[in-house]
Amino acid sequence: MTRSPKVAVVGSANVDLTTFSDAFPRPGETIFGQKFDLGFGGKGANQAVAARLCGAEVMMVARVGNDLFGSATIKNFDSYGIDTRHVRILDGVSSGVAPIFVESNGQNRIIVVKGANDLLKPADVDAAADDLRAVDTIVLQFEIPIETVHYTLRFARSHGIRCILNPAPAQPVSVSELSAADYFIPNESEAETITGMRVQSADDALRCAVSLLRQGLRTVILTLGEKGSLIATNAGSELIPPFAVNAKDTTGAGDAFIGSLSVFLAEGLPEKEALRRANLYAALSTTRVGTQKSFSSRSEFESEWRARSN
Ligand code: ADP
Repeated sequence: MTRSPKVAVVGSANVDLTTFSDAFPRPGETIFGQKFDLGFGGKGANQAVAARLCGAEVMMVARVGNDLFGSATIKNFDSYGIDTRHVRILDGVSSGVAPIFVESNGQNRIIVVKGANDLLKPADVDAAADDLRAVDTIVLQFEIPIETVHYTLRFARSHGIRCILNPAPAQPVSVSELSAADYFIPNESEAETITGMRVQSADDALRCAVSLLRQGLRTVILTLGEKGSLIATNAGSELIPPFAVNAKDTTGAGDAFIGSLSVFLAEGLPEKEALRRANLYAALSTTRVGTQKSFSSRSEFESEWRARSN
């Protein structure tokens, strides 16, 4: 394609508030921490940033609260050149936040408050419909109400728009009600929660993918961490090998995979090549610490791809 692909993410935006301390305070105790870090996150936002860095025109459909985090989230999207016309600020609710406490031994405790993300409703999809109809791919996750996920899937299907569903974080769902998704992409633990099947080996992954296909899905892709990814359709399956990297922090690898895959598919690349590329884009994200901050630009990616793809 000669124009840039257009991707819309209908999903979540959170702010991660990470405090590092030697130990957790006991009930009633106040202690000094060593360090604090504010990072932009939420699976929807992360995937939007990855898609944008890969070169797509990206539109975000999301809700934030009327607080410091809401305006900072919009500013962060703006800094990447992501279209925020459909990121609405809601009164009377906080932005989505994730206070994270990390002890010196690396142990963490996380409380996610969904806040405004939980108020992203089908009516908000209708409000963005004119712009959504113009995109090549819509990307969804499970950090917004499930009724909005169902509604957006039906919208995408009825307009012939490719739809990628990342069922994360996993929740018990009726898989057959998600069959309008063109691509259903869980990681191993999400696939386990959704199917109740164990996914530890490549054989397990294949059995699990086949079970998901039997429930009506068309294309299932399982991300398998350092083992790469697996694609399965009713026509067959293939393990897409990983790229060897010196992984430092795998947080956000799944988001890098989904965001980049949405762009490679929208560019019209054959599925297997799109998957190999997404494997590399995600692998590169593990070589840097952080989530959005760990994602490569398209030119960084292309030089790695040239060096490694033969
Ligand atoms: P999540 O971050 O959702 O748990 P995964 O761990 O499955 O997702 O990672 C997503 C993708 O990132 C994998 O399919 C793989 O392509 C790549 N990846 C993750 N960890 C590694 C690793 N250690 N080495 C190489 N590639 C990796």
